[in-house]
Amino acid sequence: MLKHQPSKLLIGLSLLMVTLQASAAKLAIVIDDFGYRTKEDNQILALPTPITIAILPDSPHGKQVATKAHQQGREIIIHMPMKPLSKQPLEKNTLAPSMSAEEVDRIIKRAIGQVPYATGMNNHMGSEMTSSLSGMRNVMGSLSQSNFFFLDSVTIGNTQAANAAKEFGVPVVRRNIFLDNHQSEEETRIQLNKAVAYARKNGSAIAIGHPHPSTVRALQKYLPQLPADIELVAVSALLNGHETPKQDKPLKMQPEQPKPLPNDPPVIPKDKHPQLIHVGTCEFELSENQTVKLSGIQFLMSVVESLYQDKTLQPLLLNSKKPLFSQQKP
Ligand SMILES: [Zn+2]
Repeated sequence: MLKHQPSKLLIGLSLLMVTLQASAAKLAIVIDDFGYRTKEDNQILALPTPITIAILPDSPHGKQVATKAHQQGREIIIHMPMKPLSKQPLEKNTLAPSMSAEEVDRIIKRAIGQVPYATGMNNHMGSEMTSSLSGMRNVMGSLSQSNFFFLDSVTIGNTQAANAAKEFGVPVVRRNIFLDNHQSEEETRIQLNKAVAYARKNGSAIAIGHPHPSTVRALQKYLPQLPADIELVAVSALLNGHETPKQDKPLKMQPEQPKPLPNDPPVIPKDKHPQLIHVGTCEFELSENQTVKLSGIQFLMSVVESLYQDKTLQPLLLNSKKPLFSQQKP
């Protein structure tokens, strides 16, 4: 009947809206390498609170940043340094496959003390460590005692993180998209679009970025215009089939720009150490489509290609023997 059609239409529309809401694709964004760069860290903390932050345990501002993020109701994970295959300066207490289970456990327990309120962990670098099943068993054995989840940053195709995590019942998820392998606002915007497309296709996506000025600018512009069918979530919301760690406060927007922290480290002039301030990539990283195990000449070519293409990384590796994230001395 004609007069019933409008109500049918309304019911139809309501059902469609309910369906759309129920099928909203979930996007988790994790920002690594927190605890060294106060300015960019604070800019990230001014972004929506579903953005998860990953703090390096031996960083100078790690505890301070964790406390502030926790007060916002933001999810915090430990960004655990793990040994890469490529030879490069390492963070203090970098986990290696050669370490005993006791040593790995001691370093992880110490990191948990250094990064308060953390409920999960992901790997900083780690192509050698995460491709070692015995090494990752040691990590997961320790994490299972603390009810932590693990986000595999996937810095190598044959990562064993998920295999080891399943043996120990540790909830595990993996990174899908890197946002800033190339540090440019335009590139990060393209990667954010890829993450949205990935989430729409697969129901969810996990993107990892770093506190680079170009990444911060891209997120500041992109997030207010996030498509309506995309829901920004903390990374633990994507632990399918596992219990999500408790959040003390509900997630909320945090539009205020925080003031700079009082104990900022002295600013090193850019012309003196530009590479120490702006380089934060987690070693060379595979593209999101690259899942094959690289070995021999293929692996070497991949390393050389990454170095060759990364204009920022190249001078650092050639000219500096200092750790990427060493504390700046005045
Ligand atoms: Zn990192």
